[in-house]
Amino acid sequence: MNPATWVEGASGSPFDVDNLPYAVVEHGDEPPRVGLRIGDQVLDLAPVAAAEMLEVSHVFEAPTLNPLLELGRPAWSWVRSWVTGLLTDEAERHLVEPHLVPVDEVTLLLPFEVADYVDFYCSLHHASNVGRIFRPDSDPLTRNWRHLPIGYHGRSGTVVVSGTDVRRPHGQRRAPGDDAPTYGPSSRLDIEAELGFVVGAATRIGDQVAVDAFAEHVFGVTLLNDWSARDIQAWESVPLGPFLGKSFATSVSGWVTPLEALEAARVDLPGQDPEPLDYLRVGGLAGFDIDIEVVLDGEVVSRPPYASMYWSPAQMLAHLTVNGASLRAGDLFGSGTVSGPERGQRGSLLELSWGGTEPFTVAGRLRTFLRDGDTVTLRATAAGALGGRIALGEVSGTVRPAGS
Ligand code: MN
Repeated sequence: MNPATWVEGASGSPFDVDNLPYAVVEHGDEPPRVGLRIGDQVLDLAPVAAAEMLEVSHVFEAPTLNPLLELGRPAWSWVRSWVTGLLTDEAERHLVEPHLVPVDEVTLLLPFEVADYVDFYCSLHHASNVGRIFRPDSDPLTRNWRHLPIGYHGRSGTVVVSGTDVRRPHGQRRAPGDDAPTYGPSSRLDIEAELGFVVGAATRIGDQVAVDAFAEHVFGVTLLNDWSARDIQAWESVPLGPFLGKSFATSVSGWVTPLEALEAARVDLPGQDPEPLDYLRVGGLAGFDIDIEVVLDGEVVSRPPYASMYWSPAQMLAHLTVNGASLRAGDLFGSGTVSGPERGQRGSLLELSWGGTEPFTVAGRLRTFLRDGDTVTLRATAAGALGGRIALGEVSGTVRPAGS
């Protein structure tokens, strides 16, 4: 089949028919519903599906992707082939074209109702850097790190869509050398460049999801910024892990990239030593080669390579469910900060400034942690099935003052 699309400007673009991410969009006075991106246009799926009398057309009328997520892998794949057919068959053009809207005329809403949110810690380089910064006198990696993908349960109610402002949080912190903790706005506000994996197909309590069942349960991927208040985090985290230092906001892209779009980006993991326990053992191509960019006030400050991640998302999901914890449509799990081995590949300002001790230059100014008014944007691209690069939807947020 000739895969070229008839949508003008889309062929060869980062949003060609090998991408096709989903969003929930608002356009004019229409109620919010599911949109699919092709080139610089958004396809309003509901009227097209209704005209074709699809059994599943109701899922496109919902103000969240959750009803689509609930359908599961066979339906997701079917819908993707159906849409690909519509966008590549000239004979369908008269039906579909009236339902294309320019992407800059729509507003993207939070694409799915977030059920449970978990954040992992799967970059060897990030975990090693953080270990060296926070615990300079001990091993950078904790004893469990190479045996399991470490994670914590986050706060799903504060996951926000790209473009939402983030208010600098207040909290309790104790600086090194201080006798007692103090209360006030965080002075070490940071970002974490991550991927978020969006779960669709649910499981029951007691079920385990094996590493090879990953694609049955995970619908797609979004860029994720795990905003982090390092001073609050450092004081509160021992012994139970992150709490208020991260729960104030987590930003995700308005676009969810289907897993199928990342088939051409699959790569082997960099290598695991020691060999993980059986339930975490994966074969080849368990990783994803996705190039991320961290943009601070318009300047690229880092290029974290997702291919360098130690644990695969299939291992994260297998570990998340190995105790029988169930999955719900809309569950979200973050990869953990993506940091590569090089200085220019670090996915947090904590690492880029080495705990604030090594300021770095952005637009001619020395910087460490975030200032009020800063805008941070994460962008990413990956190899697409048509031989070019596909883009993930960006995630952006601006820091607002703490207020009183
Ligand atoms: Mn994180």
